Amino acid sequence: MKPFKLLLVFLISISSIICISQTSKSRIEITQASVGQEATSIWRTINDIAFFEKQGYAIHLPKDSLIDSLIVKSKKGVFGNEDFPGIYTFVESKVFNQNNYKQAIEKVESQIDLMNNLINEIDSKKDQWDWKFKMFDKYKLIFTLYGTGGSYSPDEGTITLLTNEEGGFMNYEEPANTIIHEITHIGMEYSIVQKHKLSHALKERLVDTFVYLMFKEELPEYTIQNMGNTKIDKYIKKEKDIGSLNGIMLEFLNE
Ligand SMILES: [Zn+2]
Repeated sequence: MKPFKLLLVFLISISSIICISQTSKSRIEITQASVGQEATSIWRTINDIAFFEKQGYAIHLPKDSLIDSLIVKSKKGVFGNEDFPGIYTFVESKVFNQNNYKQAIEKVESQIDLMNNLINEIDSKKDQWDWKFKMFDKYKLIFTLYGTGGSYSPDEGTITLLTNEEGGFMNYEEPANTIIHEITHIGMEYSIVQKHKLSHALKERLVDTFVYLMFKEELPEYTIQNMGNTKIDKYIKKEKDIGSLNGIMLEFLNE
């Protein structure tokens, strides 16, 4: 092989290695469900059951007489940490099966490239905004069959997704919609929501508006929920308004 040909082969192989390492650097990490996590989901749901019922949430719990009796205890105010071991043993011996999460995980896996692209898009734009979008190198996904919906941790970058054995998710057919919604919650939790002491309704409206304006082409199924505070709508109409969200909130809250 002539030297320049060798060099060419060398360069091509280097560039393909770089490409591989870039595509394998996923921003999403799927974790296996565990007995401990599911016992925790169930415990928390039972602990706050009166609140969830009052709010009218759809509540997902295993159907079993043990669970029914713990719900009664919770409503009487006598449910607590000491009930956790019983729930753990019940989950381990009666309900937990890794196969129950298989379809949900496959669905999320099929959307990894799309989600990486959307996260990287936020990442490439966020430095020009007048507020800090808190971003994690990796978002950890936890799947649960129990509770009332998804949740997020702005300190750990974890997202809990409510699913079912058929791989169904809340609100949307495609889980990327919910995952990007939760990533947006994490992004604005401290720098916008807590800073300006926003209500739950306003927070949800802002997150939905953000995702919709940023990704209406990439996430065609995404819609702004029929809840939340609509008064903010006239302030945020175009994608470029996201860049001055902090200024907009100051103006809005001063009105
Ligand atoms: Zn939300």
